[in-house]
Amino acid sequence: MVSEDDGRWRTLLGALLEALPAGAVVQGPDDRVLAANREFTRMFGAEGRTGETLAGHHVHRTAELPLADGRTLRRVIEPLRHEGAYLGALWTYEDITERKRRERDLERDNVALTELARQRNAFTAAASHELRTPLTSVISFCELLTDPSFGTLTDEQASFLDAIRRNADRMQRVIADLLLTTRMRATSGLELEFDGVEVDRMLLDAVLDRMSTTREAGLFTVLECAPGPVLRGDRHRLQNVLANLLENAAKYTPAGGRISVTAAPRFDFWEIEVADTGIGVPEEFREEIFNGFVRAPNARTGEYPGTGLGLAISRTIVRLHGGTITAGEAPGGGAAFLIRLPVAGPGEPPAGPGEPPAAPGDPPAGPGEPPRREAAA
Ligand code: ADP
Repeated sequence: MVSEDDGRWRTLLGALLEALPAGAVVQGPDDRVLAANREFTRMFGAEGRTGETLAGHHVHRTAELPLADGRTLRRVIEPLRHEGAYLGALWTYEDITERKRRERDLERDNVALTELARQRNAFTAAASHELRTPLTSVISFCELLTDPSFGTLTDEQASFLDAIRRNADRMQRVIADLLLTTRMRATSGLELEFDGVEVDRMLLDAVLDRMSTTREAGLFTVLECAPGPVLRGDRHRLQNVLANLLENAAKYTPAGGRISVTAAPRFDFWEIEVADTGIGVPEEFREEIFNGFVRAPNARTGEYPGTGLGLAISRTIVRLHGGTITAGEAPGGGAAFLIRLPVAGPGEPPAGPGEPPAAPGDPPAGPGEPPRREAAA
């Protein structure tokens, strides 16, 4: 005999299950199904299997169920308790067939894109490598031609030769950047060799190496380095970064301008700034220029040659040191690049991802799977 109260609660439970956006079943503490909604019946066939006693073995709280007809359902079991007493469980089913299909498509696209990127990288590496040999030969023959024992050149011939040499040098730098980029993109990445670096010495060498070029460009270079600790870093790669910043400063600053290099230790970091009085970097491009092949419009429209690779390489090198490199504005509107490097080097890489936290406990000796399609057939 069903009491009036019982009837009301059953009606309310039925209405509640119908309101759920998933197939749902409520099970009592004895594993018997108390109620199921229409969505559940639709998912599992006309017979619905409601009112059926389900097998009482231990199941996971959430599971993905691949059905024989190709659908995939996600099932979640919520134990229902009141003041510690187990009242039963709410089983919900969501059809995730479409989502799984999209996931599989995305995975396939990802594999294809990774393969394309690998092929592009391999092609760039091979092409750059192949260009290097003939270019070395062009540069060697340029040098031979300047040797007076092969005959004297007219002033005009000497200036043509000078132009060939300068452009060949530029091509060599572009090829070196491309090769470095492909190495960084390869799975093994770029390996650094860490050692003690005297920052003042490194900066002086970097400035002196470029002194003739900057002087020819009509620029004035100032170097100010405060005393500080020896830095743990890869001197050769850090020189690449400084060379890039100084060459950029010289390239993007009109004659009569000034390049200033300032460095000082600050807390556990060395801060090195390379600033100039040139064309500057528009604010909205100060982050993007660190992505490979990106050039700000004022650099592209002016007569400034470039590939947009140098800063991407610099950022990779600085990050491998555990540091940061950012672009800003120098007083007067020029560019200012700030490098922050931890004195102690990059430190230990963060520990790999640990075990995922334990899933919340499964319901005790919960009901078995509700009838799957194949079981019902
Ligand atoms: P490249 O100079 O070969 O284009 P980089 O990666 O070194 O490549 O620089 C990327 C872009 O950042 C440049 O194209 C330019 O737009 C901007 N940039 C870099 N340095 C300066 C600078 N000192 N002054 C103005 N713009 C700069």
